Order: sequence, then structure tokens, then C-alpha cells
Amino acid sequence: MIVIKFKKAVVALILSVIFVFLVVGVPAIVSASSPAPEFVVVLDAGHGGIDGGVVGVNSGICERELNMIITYKVKALLEKRGIGVALTRDSGTGVETTITKKQEDMRQRKEKIIKAAPDLVVSIHQNKFSSPNRRGAQAFFWADKTLADSLQAALNEKINMPNQRREYSALKGDYYILQCTDYPSALVECGFLSSPLDEALLITDEYQNKIAECICTGIINYLMA
Ligand SMILES: [Zn+2]
Repeated sequence: MIVIKFKKAVVALILSVIFVFLVVGVPAIVSASSPAPEFVVVLDAGHGGIDGGVVGVNSGICERELNMIITYKVKALLEKRGIGVALTRDSGTGVETTITKKQEDMRQRKEKIIKAAPDLVVSIHQNKFSSPNRRGAQAFFWADKTLADSLQAALNEKINMPNQRREYSALKGDYYILQCTDYPSALVECGFLSSPLDEALLITDEYQNKIAECICTGIINYLMA
């Protein structure tokens, strides 16, 4: 009787192991097919709220909005490649409309970066210069230039060479967003809203897509290196 009871206990144990595998194990297998993204990128759309940034010389477009449009395009491209994306602000009612003090806004962006613990940070801006002839897309860095170099190479190939037959080098830039954490960070000035030629391109969907593709390429080349 003891032997039979023992055998029954073994069978019950095996059945319960199978049961646990079926109930708990199967969902585990299903979730394994959609794992957490291997890479996470923080995209920072420059300015926002009362801080509109620079203004288009002819169209009057606000840098704040253009940065957001391009940021969303980069986000979509990265997510298509399976890369996780966190934003420091969105076009809804978050940081953009409730935070009116610049310092507080920047502190919140820093907190969002730290919370995301990303592989890298890219901040997206539009440039301005006293001369309307200054044009082009340029990347900036603070601590390490590797990411900015990767972004600059993509921008030179698809934006600066075709438009101006010239290349730019990534430059050291004294920006808070590049200094507020130790994550690899770069800032992209997509073009000059003070240049009528750059502005005319920057407000088109086609050119915004091109810029977004360059930023995506620069990020992926950096992550894969
Ligand atoms: Zn800016």
C-alpha cells in the first residue's frame, strides 16, 4: 500500500509539474518571442512650452514644433528597428505646457533620462545665425565625440554634401543636455531657421524624413559599432 501510495504521489507530482509548465511555462515562452528591446534611446525634442526656440525667418515656424515633428519621425524609424525609445517631452500636455520655468523643465528632462537608463541620448534642435547664408546640419558633443561623429557622417552624406557640397565636423557644444548625465549624448542642429534656403527645406515633410533617417542611421551605426 505504501508503495502504491508513493507511486500515486510520484504521478501526482509529475502531473503537477506538467500543469505548472503548461500554465506558467507557456506564457513565459510566448513572452520570450517579444523580449524587451536590446537598446533604449532617449530622444530630446529641444525647447517646449513657453520656450519656442528659434523662429523661421520666412514661415515663422517655431523650432519647438519642428523639433517635435522630427523627434517623432526618428522615434518611428527606431521602433521599426526594434529599438526602445523614451522621450523627454511629448506634444501633449506633459512637460511642454505645465512646466513654465526653464530650469525645472531641464531638471525633469534629466530625471527622465536617468529613469530610462538609455544606451544613448540625442537632442534635436534647429539652428540660428546672424548671417542668412549659414546653412547645414551639425552634431555636437561634450564628453565623447563618437556618437556625434556617427550622426555627423550620416548628415554629411545625405544632407550637407547634396545641398552644399561640403562636410561639417562634429563640434564640442556647451549644452546642459549633453552634460546632465554620463550617458553617451549628442545634440543635432538639423539646419538653420535663419537661412531662407534651409528653412524652405526644413518645413517640408520630405526633408524632415531625410533628416530623421540620417539621425536614425547615425544612432544605429553607433550602437552596432
Ligand atoms: Zn534649440
